[in-house]
Amino acid sequence: MKTKSEWEDLEQKLQNALTQNRYRHTLGVSYTACALAMRYGEDLNSARRAGLLHDCAKCMSNAEMRQLAKKKKIEVSAFELEHPALLHSKIGVYVAGSTYGITDPRILEAIRWHTTGRPGMTLLESILFTADYIEPNRDKAPRLPELRRLAFTDLDRCVYEILHDTVDYLSDNPKSMDPMTLKALEFYRNRIVEADRQDGCSAR
Ligand code: FE
Ligand code: FE
Repeated sequence: MKTKSEWEDLEQKLQNALTQNRYRHTLGVSYTACALAMRYGEDLNSARRAGLLHDCAKCMSNAEMRQLAKKKKIEVSAFELEHPALLHSKIGVYVAGSTYGITDPRILEAIRWHTTGRPGMTLLESILFTADYIEPNRDKAPRLPELRRLAFTDLDRCVYEILHDTVDYLSDNPKSMDPMTLKALEFYRNRIVEADRQDGCSAR
């Protein structure tokens, strides 16, 4: 999907499926993901598509998402059923495939993990996860100017800082924390510590 009209079709379809604000966020994520892809050498079309589709199920009702999960035998955990905000990534994978014809497993996985992150994300997954947090329409998270800069200088460290702030924010309400986010935080903490240690060694 590379021609102008194919992007137009996709955008038109998404515009109909999403609220105006969600669509604006979607475009913001898509273009931010493209900018990060330019910086880190990821395929632009994949980043653009992942950004466009990441929230394709976000405007479905909880009942609709549960129903679809049941009908299509999409495995959902008890935790996800209790916290429907987490369901839209998993349901999004199905909708991206069935409604929008996305077959590339790299894009589908990026959609799958965009909310919680996971240990050892691929470049495309890290790009989408980060773009979702820093896109220009976001204004609530703390430290956005710093994280936006960091995203373009050290992506792993930015992923770590986003996970850190997310866990910090959710710790007011620990019951809503997906265990995967904690696993991801630990993974990226170790990665950062290791990178700093190697830096220290090479400086000597
Ligand atoms: Fe989302
Ligand atoms: Fe989003």
